[in-house]
Amino acid sequence: MYEKLGISKKVIDIVKNAEETLKEEFKKIDEVCDENSLKVLAAFNNNNISEAHFNSTTGYGYDDLGRDAIEKVFAEVLGAEDALVRSQFISGSHALCVALFAFLRPGDTMLSITGTPYDTLHEVIGIKENKSSLKSFGIKYDQIELINDDFDYERIKNYLKSNKVKLIEIQRSKGYSTRKSITIDKVEKVIKEIRSIDKDVIVMVDNCYCEFVNTLSPCEVGADVIVGSLIKNLGGGIAPNGAYIAGKKELVDLAGERLTLPGEGREVGPTLGINKQILQGIFMAPSVIASALKTAVLTSKVLEDLGYKVEPKYNEERADIVQNIIFGNEYDLVEYCGGIQGASPIDSFSKPLPWDMPGYDDKVVMAAGAFTQGSSIELSCDGPVRKPFIAYQQGSLTYSYGKIAVMKAVSMLLNNDK
Ligand SMILES: *Cc1c(COP(=O)(O)O)cnc(C)c1O
Repeated sequence: MYEKLGISKKVIDIVKNAEETLKEEFKKIDEVCDENSLKVLAAFNNNNISEAHFNSTTGYGYDDLGRDAIEKVFAEVLGAEDALVRSQFISGSHALCVALFAFLRPGDTMLSITGTPYDTLHEVIGIKENKSSLKSFGIKYDQIELINDDFDYERIKNYLKSNKVKLIEIQRSKGYSTRKSITIDKVEKVIKEIRSIDKDVIVMVDNCYCEFVNTLSPCEVGADVIVGSLIKNLGGGIAPNGAYIAGKKELVDLAGERLTLPGEGREVGPTLGINKQILQGIFMAPSVIASALKTAVLTSKVLEDLGYKVEPKYNEERADIVQNIIFGNEYDLVEYCGGIQGASPIDSFSKPLPWDMPGYDDKVVMAAGAFTQGSSIELSCDGPVRKPFIAYQQGSLTYSYGKIAVMKAVSMLLNNDK
């Protein structure tokens, strides 16, 4: 069976050997999974989730019992006062956009303290011109770079002392950058420093890819509001689309007024049959994240043993589910992505090639053979085709499928060795 998939005996041995050394890492991942599963189960129990909540509304979506219960479950799991969990959010980026437009007013300043935000936010903020950007409404933007993969605490404090800032954005996951992702300890530390200067500034965390990687949510360490996608971690590979905004009730309500319309806010928004999938998705999420993390750790170990640079290393603390492999040349990057695609359940017959993508300066190669379009809690691997040719791999619904795909991708690399 392995041979039919193009996996060589040599690669099976490499992966089996790597697995032997990962027992301790896998045990830690299982412990986090247990704790997060307890949290999710408690939230279901405390909110008396029953079959009635699987029912859905159409039209305006008034009195959607399931939707309201889902939002209570998400709030509890995320340690937040309240949450808005909606399929009317097209994506994580859309939820971030709604949040920014909901909280900021003309004349206000938004400050990013993790350098340049995620690519899709550039036109939202106005870093790249767009007639509908925050900038076009007179909202100012500034950013402070990270130093040595940590916050520039002094510059942040000085900035807050001499400027009135309405909202601070912290992006935990690295996006297509080469920095490390931000651990929850660092989020906690910087929020304490921020609060020592400014009690009122809204601290908003882009939490994409970070949910359930550890046991604490940013809301539990002082963030006012957090945002994430349901086709990433918390959707558990089951939610068909959507995103969430969770945090202080007042802010979640404001986001609701912006997502729909002032005056109707959170009272409307039909769920059109997906309540059960959203509930089942968050129920599965702790275990799916554990599978994704094990796949990432295995990838890190195997590719490092083969002589590639990786980030994070297999035994490093993780903040998100993203694994980088620094290939150093285009050929290996493309071959590896081809292997991941070839071991996908959907579109395994396609070969990913570097292509121009809207919003990106370089060509991008993307392996994504997912049940849900664009889902990156399902195994996916992509990277901009520029030096040093970094692959960004994330997800896997089960560890076995993740392992098989890594075996296939490594076989492609070794077969085609220069
Ligand atoms: C994925 C991601 C987003 C949102 O992406 P969508 O594809 O729009 O859901 C935002 N920020 C970061 C850091 C991400 O990884």
